[in-house]
Amino acid sequence: MWTRRQFLETSSFAAALGVAARGAFAQAPPAVTGTFTALRGNTGYFSGRGGTIGWLIAPDGLVVVDTQFPDTAQLCLDGIKSRASRSIDLLVNTHHHGDHTGGNAVFRPHVGGILAHANVPGLQQKAAAAPPPPGQPPPAAPTVADKTYDKVWEQAIGKETLRLKYYGPAHTSGDSVVTFVKANVAHMGDLMFNKRHPFIDRPSGASITNWITVLESTVKDHAKDTTYIFGHAKDGQPVTGDQGHLLEMRNYLTAVLDVTRKAIADGKSRDEAMTLGPLPKFEDYMEAPPRLTLATVLGIAYDELKN
Ligand SMILES: [Zn+2]
Repeated sequence: MWTRRQFLETSSFAAALGVAARGAFAQAPPAVTGTFTALRGNTGYFSGRGGTIGWLIAPDGLVVVDTQFPDTAQLCLDGIKSRASRSIDLLVNTHHHGDHTGGNAVFRPHVGGILAHANVPGLQQKAAAAPPPPGQPPPAAPTVADKTYDKVWEQAIGKETLRLKYYGPAHTSGDSVVTFVKANVAHMGDLMFNKRHPFIDRPSGASITNWITVLESTVKDHAKDTTYIFGHAKDGQPVTGDQGHLLEMRNYLTAVLDVTRKAIADGKSRDEAMTLGPLPKFEDYMEAPPRLTLATVLGIAYDELKN
């Protein structure tokens, strides 16, 4: 039998794949609660179920970054309403996965617009068009961004300045780094999995090779003391951190590619490459079966390097 934690992990990332989440919801997930945590400069994050939601709640500007699932999106929206007297200026999606955009429809009537990278609406629609699991109804049309950008987007919102930047393919082919410039806080979406094996969405254009560059470029573009909000973290580990966390993930992805390159050079098969863990220095990374495991990561790395 699954523990509640395993259920949550699996349902979140099944949603990310756009496959089994509808089934998971049909099984009535356990009641969830949400927590608001303040960072600085009127920013902070909300934790419920799925990818961390970032926020700016200031007297002259309201921004929400990602929406988790419908149930936790409602909790987040209620919490924001109780903390603010104005409507939400902008909703940002860091990328298209269902555990970051599943609550978009809940927020839609309450936001001035939804912003994401130009590749995100198409990826979201493609995921929603995938055949539903047997016996499940097809999903409702997804609520997608009505504003998109290609490389960099920047705008003042009240006294804050919001910046989105696309560094090329990494976790998907539509990941934004979302920076509250004055607060010196950046939401990484799923470009950051803290101390756990990441989901790498190769069918949506992911690239481990470029992901390494993205993390390095992000560190270069930000101050030494920028606080980063992560999409996900190992149980018990923080969902925020500093540039050291980004560089550790860069090192992890580099180690994944190094091991895989050697396996290919040694003539190993994909199945053999998948058994080459644990990775030295990263033995404590969280395994979240069935998908978020080192074996899966090594298999995807094998596919990337072989192509
Ligand atoms: Zn994701």
